[in-house]
Amino acid sequence: MIQAEILARLRVAPGSKVSLKDYDPGWAQTKEMKALGKTAVKERAQAILDQNLADLAAAQELLYADDRYAVLLVFQAMDAAGKDGTIKHVMSGINPQGCQVFSFKQPSAEELDHNFLWRYAKAAPERGRIGIFNRSYYEDVLVVRVHPELLARQKLAVGVGKKRFWKDRYEDINAFERHLTRNGTVVLKFFLHVSKEEQRKRFLDRLDRPEKNWKFSSADLAERGHWDEYMRAYEDALSATSTDWAPWYVVPGDQKWITRVVVADVLTTAIRGLELRFPELSAEQRAALKQARDQLTSEQR
Ligand code: ATP
Ligand code: MG
Repeated sequence: MIQAEILARLRVAPGSKVSLKDYDPGWAQTKEMKALGKTAVKERAQAILDQNLADLAAAQELLYADDRYAVLLVFQAMDAAGKDGTIKHVMSGINPQGCQVFSFKQPSAEELDHNFLWRYAKAAPERGRIGIFNRSYYEDVLVVRVHPELLARQKLAVGVGKKRFWKDRYEDINAFERHLTRNGTVVLKFFLHVSKEEQRKRFLDRLDRPEKNWKFSSADLAERGHWDEYMRAYEDALSATSTDWAPWYVVPGDQKWITRVVVADVLTTAIRGLELRFPELSAEQRAALKQARDQLTSEQR
């Protein structure tokens, strides 16, 4: 496991005012780590990740068998911060049947005709499952805030233009997450914090390598132009919606190995923290099993 001290540093304390410049997108989270050196820290991170991925497979099986809880992982980030790769790696060892991934793009006409949480509520994970939101209802206080014309498309009759508008949305989000957690869904939220310089390098890499060209979109470059507005929207959203029941983690995004180990560690620790158990059989069910055993044994020649 990652040192509790490091995780505590990455978890946004409820009620605190987030300033993203206080979070290092790089790898050295403590003086001790810096003293150890990057190679040593990387090796240690890999060992923790390997262990977590092995534990995660077992934890997920128990989550599925126990069938009382669900886990929702929310991923938000600027483009090329590594959402897709993190999801792929962290989930690599688990049973696909127990996992659901939803990627949210621009809302459809039908979705726009409903309240902003509607499409996400429909995709919330079933009991026993790990659900992943690759982008989420947070887009409705991020991209929609940076681009007011998107808000116009939502054709809202109430609240638009009021000072409280975004505050009200945060309140709705907190209430929605409270509702989920009260009903047995653990909610964990990750902001993959990539630096503007690292994004520049990754975009260039997408342009330089033919097999990565498909990943490049000029729309991403346009969004990069709004970097500072996005950072302000993120800071505001993270400050208002990191709660005891659904905390945010600001995960360093410039080194993929750090991003992966942090997400895997938070997830494994959260599932382990639940009191999961294999379902216990009643006396009646046990008697039925015995009968089945007797029947199968008597078929033996
Ligand atoms: P990738 O580029 O890795 O495939 P992505 O998540 O960036 O993944 P895209 O199809 O490139 O996927 O982009 C989806 C776009 O949809 C993003 O620009 C995002 O801001 C936008 N989007 C998501 N949710 C909403 C929303 N509720 N309202 C408006 N735009 C949204
Ligand atoms: Mg994209």
